[in-house]
Amino acid sequence: MEVTILHKDENVIHFLLEGVDVAFANALRRTMINRLPAMAIDEVLVLENTSVMFDEMLAQRLGLIPLTTDLDSYNLPRNCDCEGKGCSLCQCTLTLEKEADEEEMIVYSGDLSSQDPKVIPATDGIPLVKLAPRQSIIVEAYARLGTGSENAKFQPVATVAYKYVPVVSVDKTKCDQCGACVEVCPKNILIIEGDTLSTQNTLDCSLCEICVKECEPSAIIIDSKKDSFLFKVESSGALPPEEIAERAAEILKERIRVALDFTNSL
Ligand SMILES: [Zn+2]
Repeated sequence: MEVTILHKDENVIHFLLEGVDVAFANALRRTMINRLPAMAIDEVLVLENTSVMFDEMLAQRLGLIPLTTDLDSYNLPRNCDCEGKGCSLCQCTLTLEKEADEEEMIVYSGDLSSQDPKVIPATDGIPLVKLAPRQSIIVEAYARLGTGSENAKFQPVATVAYKYVPVVSVDKTKCDQCGACVEVCPKNILIIEGDTLSTQNTLDCSLCEICVKECEPSAIIIDSKKDSFLFKVESSGALPPEEIAERAAEILKERIRVALDFTNSL
C-alpha cells in the first residue's frame, strides 16, 4: 500500500492511496467518519437563560460546535478509570456568561471559555443565540470524547470521499480533432496541441464520460484503476486532516488484528 499526499492545507488533505481494493478504501473512509473520536459538548448546565431560546435548543447548538481535540490527553469515558462518571482525564469544562446591555447582541462560539486551552471552539464565528437588551445567559458545558457511531456531533470530518483514479486514453487513429470534447469537458482535461488531442491534469477527471458521448465511437476511452483511490478529507476543525487519516488507519489496523485473532481462535 502506498500513500502520496497531493495537496494539504489547514483543514483539507487530498491523497492518493494505491495498492488496496475498494473494500479497504471504504473501510478507511468509514473509520474516519464513525470510529475516530473527537471532542464535543455532551452535557450542559444552564444556570441562567432569559433569552427567547429554550434551554434544550441552546444545549443542542452548543453540542454541534466543533472543538479542537487532543487525543493524547483525554480518555474515552468508557475507557477511563472513573468509569464514565466524569473526571479531568475524560471531561473538559467550558463556560459561557454573557449579558446584553442596552443593545441587542449575538453570542458566538468564540465567547466560550475553556479550562483547557487545547479544547476550544475550532472556529469563533458560530452564532449561538441572540440576546435582546438586558437578557443574559450563564452556562456551564462539559465536553468529552465520543465517536460518530454514537452521535454525528463527534465526527472529526466534515467530508471524506474517494474516487477511482481515472485513466483517459485517446485513439489518435479515430480522433478527427474536431474539438467538441474539449468544449464539453467540465474539468478541462482535454486539449488540442497542434493536430493531436491530448490530456492534462487527468486526476481531475470526474469520470462523467460526456466527452465519450460527444466524440467518434471509441476514440476516447475513460477507464479507472481498480486498486488506486483519490481521497479527499475535510476536517471539521477538531483535528488536523493528516492526523485524521493517520489515526483512522491505526484504528482500522487494530480492528483488523482483533478480527483476525478472533477468527484464529475459532
Ligand atoms: Zn474519567
